[in-house]
Amino acid sequence: MKTLLSHGYYKGEIVDLPTPEITDDGVLVKICYCGICGTDQDLFSSECSFVEDGLVSYPARLGHEWSGIVEKVGKNVTEFKKGDRVVGDNGISCEQCEDCLSGHFEKCIHLRNVGTIKPAYDGAFAEYFMIPARHLHHIPDGMSLKEASLAEPFSVAYGGIKHMNINEKSVVAVIGTGCIGMAAIVLAKALGAKTVVMIGRNPEKLKVAQRLGAEIINNTICDVKAEIDKLTNGNGADYVLECSGAKETFKQAISIATFKGTVALIGFYEHKENEVNIDNIVSKALTLVGVMGAIGDMAGALRILKNNKLDFSPIVTDELPFDDCIKGFTRKNYPNSIKTTVKICEE
Ligand SMILES: [Zn+2]
Ligand SMILES: [Zn+2]
Repeated sequence: MKTLLSHGYYKGEIVDLPTPEITDDGVLVKICYCGICGTDQDLFSSECSFVEDGLVSYPARLGHEWSGIVEKVGKNVTEFKKGDRVVGDNGISCEQCEDCLSGHFEKCIHLRNVGTIKPAYDGAFAEYFMIPARHLHHIPDGMSLKEASLAEPFSVAYGGIKHMNINEKSVVAVIGTGCIGMAAIVLAKALGAKTVVMIGRNPEKLKVAQRLGAEIINNTICDVKAEIDKLTNGNGADYVLECSGAKETFKQAISIATFKGTVALIGFYEHKENEVNIDNIVSKALTLVGVMGAIGDMAGALRILKNNKLDFSPIVTDELPFDDCIKGFTRKNYPNSIKTTVKICEE
């Protein structure tokens, strides 16, 4: 099968490798789409702390944002069959530790990361991908395979959303116009939030947020706190999802949150921060939650999306054929891309 191998330092190639052997509990999936994540770009370029910290072995098999069609199931698998449309978790549990044996595989301490850092599990930039059935999810009816390839970033956004009690009175602010920020908008809208605001700096990407139903604030030309105060009669946002991972936006998130608000920090900052006015957090009685992609959150995200009426296909801004996908791994080639997806096999 055709497989992308990344050698790091901007080198990669598509090679022919054996199709994975199916296990009794496994499902072999024909991959239709696989999105290129910022982490894939970091690992492809080797310009990231993961490589400095020795957490990547090359050649690496990347890809954790995929959707596909079941090709074959192992003999113990009953809940999936050939032809089912599926997506999967970004971590693979060991099935041997105490947590796995009691069914809590989301707590597994031996979790392998799909297509990213050590301990890694071979990723999905390949024609076929083998995954234990316990990590697989059905795609809701009416959702295209291309949209479904966003299920993993949606699960990361859901990791923040699940700490919030969003309802028709809520004001939700999202900082960061990447894929996870856009996913947060869609989930907040689907949960009925009164107002959803996207804060970012790229006008093209802000336009997409607007298409998804968000108010927009360009933080390079506006005083964000003043704009949020205008929208909320000075109360601030009930919930803030900080998805951009920058020092300034962290401060912004704290400053625009309402009294007793919740701020979710989604994604890595990759540096230490010691200029934060902690008293701002204390005096506003804020709840701060750290969020990273966790297995167990995909089902929750899909549950919300199942009833969602919003067309979120504008999040996929670019599509590349598999044979020509390598250019998608270099950020500067697609400065206005929110999500570049790779078409791998025909549906
Ligand atoms: Zn990702
Ligand atoms: Zn385990």
